[in-house]
Amino acid sequence: MDRVSCRTRLPFTTRFYSPPTVLHKLILKAGREKSLKRRHPWVYSGAVARVQGKPGPGEAVEIHSAAGAFLAIAAYSPHSQIVARVWEWQECAIDGAFFRARVASAVAHRRGLLEPDTNALRLIHGESDGLPGVIADRYDEVVVVQLLSAGAERWRQEIADALVEATGATRVWERSDAEVRALEGLPAVSGPLRGAREPSQVTITEHQLMFQLSLEHGHKTGFYLDQRENRRRVRELAAGRDVLDGFCYTGGFALNAFKGGARSVLAIDSSADALRLARANASLNGLQGGEWIEGDVFQFLRKLRDGARSFDLIVLDPPKFAPTAAHAAKAARAYKDINLVAFKLLRAGGLLVTFSCSGGVSADLFQKIVAGSALDAGVQAQIIERLGPGPDHPVALNFPEGDYLKGLVCRVAG
Ligand code: SAH
Repeated sequence: MDRVSCRTRLPFTTRFYSPPTVLHKLILKAGREKSLKRRHPWVYSGAVARVQGKPGPGEAVEIHSAAGAFLAIAAYSPHSQIVARVWEWQECAIDGAFFRARVASAVAHRRGLLEPDTNALRLIHGESDGLPGVIADRYDEVVVVQLLSAGAERWRQEIADALVEATGATRVWERSDAEVRALEGLPAVSGPLRGAREPSQVTITEHQLMFQLSLEHGHKTGFYLDQRENRRRVRELAAGRDVLDGFCYTGGFALNAFKGGARSVLAIDSSADALRLARANASLNGLQGGEWIEGDVFQFLRKLRDGARSFDLIVLDPPKFAPTAAHAAKAARAYKDINLVAFKLLRAGGLLVTFSCSGGVSADLFQKIVAGSALDAGVQAQIIERLGPGPDHPVALNFPEGDYLKGLVCRVAG
């Protein structure tokens, strides 16, 4: 147990602890408790007046206002600008039981979300599930976990045990190799946490389509689960259309377009590994044909334009151009550019399904950018649907940063 005082009943268990052990505290500067009072779970280093005690990385600390009021219990990240992430808003023990309860609760919320034709979904979505820095995705029998903060890192074994207990998974694989770990002073870690190393490639089923993914080399935890429902939507929209899937990764939207009866599918990605898997996934599902192009979408769309190609449905699901608001201007130019060319490639009545997963670009800004693209492309278009992640990617109301994925379905006037 981390040394925190526990004067109240634990929120997720019935145990009591004898008060109080000596504990570490972060005392905030005057007036800097406002965001915590709104239950935003991050404490920035600039808000801290002093650290009482000598907390190690990831250790539990109490957060107090300048006036001495208890605000929260958080994990300490001494190397990060986000110097603490809140575990709990009342005094409680941070220990194995805490993680068992939190993980069990997140997993229980996903019961009933999985349709029988699907065996992959997100189990823990970080801050929005009360577990800052912890991501866990289920891929059939394997759970892939990502520990992104010093607090999550400290409780690796307890989190792995809790995942096994809550899911019955035979294997837990760790993919803690995201760049953000460096901001926490943490090294990249990847490999099995529970169960066997092999096979390192797994096959999942998503709405009847099979996808192979690499536990070792796949992006993020292996697959972009946040787009599951949107891939299905594209399947519904694709019948009889000539479809272009920009940024296709392992074929997510492209294969759904095939499955939905697209007349033709052209898919582009800059990663040769992703395309190899995309082709393998196409044959795994008995889907023939399609053009799989290794290349840069920005350049390739222009070539298509010069070649006078046109499409009825274009999906653009680019990587995160703007992780934070500081990158928004550069990202805006990139979004403007690809959406502009896409509009030019669409036939009258065609659909553009366009996404941004940039936390630094709001839904409002994204819509403005896409509007600018249509204007410059000289097309009249309407938004006919707005898309977001599925219910396994909840957004806690006190954590708007969790609201990163937004999509628009635009129809070009016919
Ligand atoms: N739509 C996919 C996920 C796309 S992720 C799915 O449903 O699974 C973004 C993809 O963009 C990655 O595969 C990455 O390799 C690719 N990418 C990044 N920059 C690119 C560029 N300039 N041109 C083409 N592909 C790019």
